[in-house]
Amino acid sequence: MTSALPPFAAVIVAAGSGSRSGGAKQWRLLGGKPVVRWSVEALLKAGAEDVVVVVAPGAEAKAATALDGLTGWRAVAGGATRAESVQAGLAALGGPDNRPVLVHDAARPFLSAAVIARCVEALSDADGALPALPVADSLRRAVDGMVAGSVEREALWRAQTPQAFRLKTLTDAYANWPSDEAATDEATVVERAGGRVRIVEGDARLMKLTYPEDFAMAEALIPRTVRIGQGYDVHRWGPGTSVWLCGLEIPHDQTLIGHSDADAGLHALTDAILGAIGEGDIGDHFPPTDDKWKGAPSDLFLKHAAGLVTARGGRISNVDVTLICERPKVKPHRQAMRERLAEILDIPLDAVSVKATTSEGLGFTGRGEGLAAQAVATVELPARP
Ligand code: MG
Repeated sequence: MTSALPPFAAVIVAAGSGSRSGGAKQWRLLGGKPVVRWSVEALLKAGAEDVVVVVAPGAEAKAATALDGLTGWRAVAGGATRAESVQAGLAALGGPDNRPVLVHDAARPFLSAAVIARCVEALSDADGALPALPVADSLRRAVDGMVAGSVEREALWRAQTPQAFRLKTLTDAYANWPSDEAATDEATVVERAGGRVRIVEGDARLMKLTYPEDFAMAEALIPRTVRIGQGYDVHRWGPGTSVWLCGLEIPHDQTLIGHSDADAGLHALTDAILGAIGEGDIGDHFPPTDDKWKGAPSDLFLKHAAGLVTARGGRISNVDVTLICERPKVKPHRQAMRERLAEILDIPLDAVSVKATTSEGLGFTGRGEGLAAQAVATVELPARP
């Protein structure tokens, strides 16, 4: 679909301070990805030749971090107003007069290829294109909190971005815009200059993140996939007076031998979580050859794995650990183990299971030579297109 589009460029406005959303929302993480990155990725994927991201002066490094690994974009310092920022972006963009340019708000992350296509295609017979949605709710005028009449909604539309124009159409319209008047959006500027701006079908998901609570709604809109990982670990019994299992120190007449605290339950669980997100195994992250981890409490390892999940905008749905040994008796400690795991992972208690079994005297666990642990974890991650 995108291959049929004529070449186009884009200006993304990411220069706001985000006072209403409680901070510069364009850099905040949404589904593990900076808000601005959603739009840049969508535009590049749809075939944009050149994407200029307009940022507040001095925020170029923030953009470089947020858009790390992407090519086809560059950051430009904006001005004091939206109009100045857009014009700075257009100047940096350049190109032929008839170049289609999409101007988009970074605060609208869920930009679909279909909306991009509708905007670009509408320029074939209009001076501009504006994605918009009809008003579904009835509208009321109110005075001092009391209804004082209704407003006809048939001709009203909720304007979104990106808004599309030919480069010269928009630069000329801005050149004629009165400097003492604030421009709401580019469609207003072009319309004032006499341009015909066509309304194309918008997208309810293209909502603007304005208030802090909008982020929770946006997170809920992100499709997620369920991942499953499993882990297995064994440690050998040796002389000692206590053993660490699932984050608890249990008095025992032996201990498990290992480089760290030898908590096989936590090691198996750490591997299960790493497995669910394709992050190798515990040895990759905490090499046993590194003296730093000698005698280390294994909840460090588990916290690290859980942190990797969070960094991707994911969450751990549930974990299930099985300890395989003849001794010590695990049952008296199960509840405390569950509580400890729930605390380390910061997930609800009913999402944590600890089970134990003997191996009926068979094999190395049955002979009391070692303890084995198995674990399964399910993780929800934002779906990557
Ligand atoms: Mg181990």
